[in-house]
Parts: sequence; C-alpha cells; structure tokens
Amino acid sequence: MAPTPPTDRRPLVISGPSGVGKGTLYGKLFAAHPDTFTLSVSHTTRKPRDGEQDGVHYHFVTMEEFEGLIAKDGFVEHAKFGSNRYGTSKATIEEQTAKGKVVVLDIEMEGVKQIKASSLGARYVFIAPPSFEALEKRLRGRGTEDEDAVVKRLDQARVELEFAKTPGVHDITIVNDDLDKAYAELEAYVYKK
Ligand code: ADP
Ligand code: 5GP
Repeated sequence: MAPTPPTDRRPLVISGPSGVGKGTLYGKLFAAHPDTFTLSVSHTTRKPRDGEQDGVHYHFVTMEEFEGLIAKDGFVEHAKFGSNRYGTSKATIEEQTAKGKVVVLDIEMEGVKQIKASSLGARYVFIAPPSFEALEKRLRGRGTEDEDAVVKRLDQARVELEFAKTPGVHDITIVNDDLDKAYAELEAYVYKK
C-alpha cells in the first residue's frame, strides 16, 4: 500500500497521562497508514518491558549515557518522569525527518513545554481519559509497572490533566473512551485539510 501522507506534515506531539492509550492510538494510525508516520524513538533510563526492543520502542541507556548526551547538548528536550529520565535526541528528529515521514513524538508535559519553546513547528494532541478511575484501571490492567511506579504515574497524571487545561496548550484534546471513536477523531484531525 502506498503511503498516505496528510496535508499537514508537521510533527505530531502526542501527550496524555500514562495508561490513557496514547501508544494504542498511534499504533492504529501507523497500522492504517503504512510508511506514512514514524515514531521518534526516545532515549530512556527505564528498563525495557517484556517485548520492548532497543532502538524500536526506545533507546535504552544508562544514567551515565543519558547525562553524557545532555552534556553534549544532544537533546531537543528531556525530562524526568517517575524515577527515570526520557529525552528526544536531536539526531533522532533529524534522521526521522530526513525519511520524509511525519514524525510522532510521545512525550510528557515538560517535554511538550520545551518543544513549544523550540523552533520545531508541531501539532499538539492531548489524549484524556473518560475518568480518573478508568485511567487507573487501564494503567493497572496493563500490568507493566510495580505498585510504586503506578502510584507515581497516577500522581503525575493529575499534574498532566491540570496542565492540559491551560488555554491554547494543545491543538486538540481527544477523550479516549470508546477506542474506535477516539481513533476516528485522531485520524480526522491528522488528515484535516
Ligand atoms: P499509554 O501509551 O498512554 O501509556 P497504552 O496505549 O499502553 O497507554 O494503553 C494502556 C492500556 O489501556 C492498554 O492495556 C490498552 O490496551 C488499554 N486501552 C487503550 N485504549 C483503551 C480504551 N479506549 N478502552 C479501554 N482500554 C484501552
Ligand atoms: P513509558 O515509561 O510509559 O514508556 O513513558 C512514560 C512517560 O514518558 C509517558 O508520558 C511518555 O509520553 C513520556 N516520554 C516518553 N519518551 C519521552 C521523551 O523523549 N521525552 C519526554 N519528555 N517524555 C517522554
């Protein structure tokens, strides 16, 4: 199937609390439009989950390696999330943009603020849960985090949801209640003429 690029090819910055369904939603976008989008593969000090591959889901690095990259001014943005660090390297953005695909960034709110302050023109999509209870159920249901990390993520979710109320910070907020409906909204926004 030939790529189906949207008219607006600016990078898509997708944020929202952990467990809300960001990965699920852009996974559907990638599957529906092969060779059109590309994930900005972040660097992280977090340990890989079962099935996560180095260089595909993340570049898994040590704290020393991460700090070395900061010292070399290698990041467009970086942040601490829970007990780990995450960042988008300049090299990653350049490589992906060179492929001619629409780059998708899955980042938390401190990264969003830094991208907004940078020269990268982007579109900002916020994914919200239908309720805090539903978010907690999804995060726990995914079963990827221990209790300590779940509690940290839920605390941070409150901060992310509060930040998202700032007027003008996101171009669109999509409530991920029914998955197919939320996906249809995402696709319609991405392909808006
Ligand atoms: P995120 O990338 O935002 O951390 P995930 O995409 O990993 O979140 O989704 C978290 C969990 O919620 C996964 O188990 C996923 O299958 C589930 N999920 C995603 N969207 C929905 C939805 N609309 N309704 C119910 N469960 C969902
Ligand atoms: P997870 O550990 O669930 O993969 O990601 C945790 C959080 O880190 C999510 O909110 C995700 O969007 C965010 N994140 C992932 N990569 C980056 C990054 O490169 N920069 C920033 N700022 N956040 C990131």
